[in-house]
Amino acid sequence: MGGTQSVSIGQYNVPMKTSPPTPSPSEKIPAFQTGLLAWWEANRRDLPWRHTRDPYRILVSEVMLQQTQVDRVIPHYHRWLERFPTVQALAESETADVIHLWAGLGYNRRAVNLQRTAQAVVERGGTFPSNVETLKSLPGIGPYTAGAIACFAFERDVAFIDTNMRRVLHRVFLGPELPAPLANDREITRLAAEALPDGLGWDWNQAMIEFGALHCTARKPLCVVCPLQRSCAAYPDIQSLIVERPRGVKAKKEGPFKESNRYFRGRVVDALRNRRDTGITVGELGPIVRPQFAEADVPWLLDIVHGLERDGLAAIAEEPATYDVSETRIRLP
Ligand code: SF4
Repeated sequence: MGGTQSVSIGQYNVPMKTSPPTPSPSEKIPAFQTGLLAWWEANRRDLPWRHTRDPYRILVSEVMLQQTQVDRVIPHYHRWLERFPTVQALAESETADVIHLWAGLGYNRRAVNLQRTAQAVVERGGTFPSNVETLKSLPGIGPYTAGAIACFAFERDVAFIDTNMRRVLHRVFLGPELPAPLANDREITRLAAEALPDGLGWDWNQAMIEFGALHCTARKPLCVVCPLQRSCAAYPDIQSLIVERPRGVKAKKEGPFKESNRYFRGRVVDALRNRRDTGITVGELGPIVRPQFAEADVPWLLDIVHGLERDGLAAIAEEPATYDVSETRIRLP
């Protein structure tokens, strides 16, 4: 049977599992924990959502951070909380207001989903659950967000993974994730659970996210100055594998965004924001969304509008009295 002893790292008293359950990855755990927590203490950024344990604020920050850089999120986060300071305020607001305030963050569906989550919390009494399974039963909350709320709001020792954590865990325990990952999310989450130091879940998960975002990044990991060098399975090869990475991978990812459905959906929602009071007809909307818009493009535009309507981002305000569909008026819901 194994025991537990503690090691002091700065302000942290880290319980070390002295007899890990599986030999290979577990042997790395003490060095991983001490190295990463020391790095965190020296390098952590002072971000507004790290000053709160309010689950609503944690939820807002996590949803905003899903597809947007930290620097861009910060002003939006403050503005959002001024306008919708509580989960009740968000739940009871006009959806049009919610979409309007989301301008500049992209992926507008996140705004609508965030409000749906808030409405579900309010319907269940207005208090966020603290355990992962109940959190996951709320609309719009997946395993990552549920783990983040349980950990960052309620300080539960919960293992969960995002892109940064997945990369760090993969590199340290399994080696380079290139040319293809060697484990799926379930296996990586198991590693995350094994590596989690008892009683330090909040710092530990913040540290992994921060380390993946600032130090062990996808394209430029700072291996030369890395405190985890000696315990990292990827260290010997990751730099050369990144250099050798086929060019096609990058080219494919960048794609022609300005021809994508997501781009045009964003243009439509922006136009609806600008005509918030009156709405806009399909005929007026077309040239705003696509400069070379022609009558033949009306069905294409209506498809986009109906997709947005299904996602709660647009509403048909008025069907035309004639058969001229370009007179159909659209507005924010
Ligand atoms: S040695 Fe390199 S790949 Fe390994 S954890 Fe450090 S930065 Fe990441």
